[in-house]
Amino acid sequence: MKCINCSYYRQHPIYEFMGYCEKKGSAVFPEDSCRDAISTVKEETEKLFENYGWAYCIECGSVLFDRSELDKHISLGHSLTQKFLEDEVATYESPGGD
Ligand SMILES: [Zn+2]
Repeated sequence: MKCINCSYYRQHPIYEFMGYCEKKGSAVFPEDSCRDAISTVKEETEKLFENYGWAYCIECGSVLFDRSELDKHISLGHSLTQKFLEDEVATYESPGGD
């Protein structure tokens, strides 16, 4: 996965061609990739899962209550949502810069 799609990635405020990796603590380029990368989707889904205690897998059409189940579906690339709480999802934004 590319750095730009990773939740550790922070876009540089001035230079679009570079950013900062909170995991590595150093500058990276958007097209870089690394095996520690965590998808922003995964991070947001986990955050919501912790808040609400469940998630709905669109692919499987089932509600997940177990954290290990959640990880399994995420790793399979399934789309997870708390679709009955769309307002909360829509207002969520990544934390700002320093
Ligand atoms: Zn699934």
